[in-house]
Amino acid sequence: MYKDTRTLIATRRLLQDGQVKVSEVIQECLNNICKTEPTLKALLNIQEEQAMEQAREMDRQGPDTNKPLWGIPMTIKDAICTRDMPTTCGSRILANFTPGYDATLVHRLKEAGAVILGKTNLDEFAMGSSTENSALQTTHNPWDLSRVPGGSSGGSAASMAALQSLGSIGTDTGGSIRQPASFCGVVGMKPTYGRVSRYGLVAFGSSLEQAGPITTCVPDCAALMSVISGHDLLDSTSSAAPVPDYLGALERRNDLKGLRIGLPAQYWEKKMSPEVYTACNHAMQTARDAGAETVTVDLPHAGHAVAAYYIIAMAEASSNLARYDGVRYGYRDMEATELLDMYRRTRSRALGEEVQRRIMIGTYVLSAGYYDAYFKKAAQVRRLIHQDFMRAFEDCDVICSPVVPFTAFSIGEKVDDPLQLYLMDIFTSSINLAGLPGISIPAGLGGGSGMPVGIQILGPAFSEELLLQSACVLEQALGPLPLPTALI
Ligand code: GLN
Repeated sequence: MYKDTRTLIATRRLLQDGQVKVSEVIQECLNNICKTEPTLKALLNIQEEQAMEQAREMDRQGPDTNKPLWGIPMTIKDAICTRDMPTTCGSRILANFTPGYDATLVHRLKEAGAVILGKTNLDEFAMGSSTENSALQTTHNPWDLSRVPGGSSGGSAASMAALQSLGSIGTDTGGSIRQPASFCGVVGMKPTYGRVSRYGLVAFGSSLEQAGPITTCVPDCAALMSVISGHDLLDSTSSAAPVPDYLGALERRNDLKGLRIGLPAQYWEKKMSPEVYTACNHAMQTARDAGAETVTVDLPHAGHAVAAYYIIAMAEASSNLARYDGVRYGYRDMEATELLDMYRRTRSRALGEEVQRRIMIGTYVLSAGYYDAYFKKAAQVRRLIHQDFMRAFEDCDVICSPVVPFTAFSIGEKVDDPLQLYLMDIFTSSINLAGLPGISIPAGLGGGSGMPVGIQILGPAFSEELLLQSACVLEQALGPLPLPTALI
């Protein structure tokens, strides 16, 4: 029986060579799900029978070497539409929603031969940093079940750390791929805005978000990036820039010689826990040992990123979420006797507290009289943040920083303090504002908590190839993490 479902790349080779059957690979992931899911609660639905049936059919037909993900089991964040499979977005308002179509990226994964094993838990409408805002269940961190997995793609990150599949897709509006990847000791990439089609993503902050891979290693991330990237006629913000062979690019670099890494003073001098500082500092020493040069760079407006991000994200959310009115799809309150009352009851009953808070603040910052003071100011700050990055990239090729100032915290610890949770985005939200790419990889385990610490590598627009190459060298040099406790 095939046991080693640790990396997509290794399994892909065995599948293509016919050394292992698709049904064996799927079965092994289902075994891991059986073992870990009762305590992790990472998945909102599991497509066990469909996946096994698909696997048997693929085995009958034999390997298709033209399909780069032939037989690879994947999980998808439940904010991404999947045809004939529930897509709840972690909300009661969509609890019974099953889309009639696939998001473009899901379509591409399927065309490449991937088998969709299930949908992963998230903060309701991807609003949050701990996955505790899910209206459906609370996901636990595979390294310590009393802690959060991070968010909002916490289900995907926990699921990957527990080897429930060989690859997962999350979304990142202000850090939601990189943060949970960092808390769970896995790899997560937020692509350049426009690199991956957003068609079929449940909209939250449309000008900020991108879908991207969450995997156990950088080469797996590269393999998925090659499949999901590219122009899409169904998304007018998607880029027509050609998609490089991201995986092939990894072979062209095996050290960091000549790479100039910028370390923003504003990030590294910020308050962070000593264990995060130590692990990230060690990662930078490792990068220098591999040939990189580190230089201090300036991001003078970095301190305003969280405020600008939350104004813009909430403004966009208030507009995007107007569609959940109980009329067209999703939950409808049946007790109301007239239309306005139906809207009010539907929205107040089926949307969670955080979502309602954001709709209210978002509506406020867009309202006449306050628009100039809040939304317009935030849009101007956004431009300044973008310019900061452009200037910094004149002195360096990539930028490195911690992902979150601390490691995974206890479930319930911050849930009543939204501001504390917002401040977690201090290192992540600025690249969403600037539309740039970033990748988070494990930097090691924190000396105090024993929990994973992530380091992120950020780059200019469409520098995914360089980011993946640099991350791959650094990942090799840092060495792998042990298995998380949920798997032992
Ligand atoms: N923590 C951020 C928020 O709550 C980011 C969420 C995300 O990236 N989806 O808005």
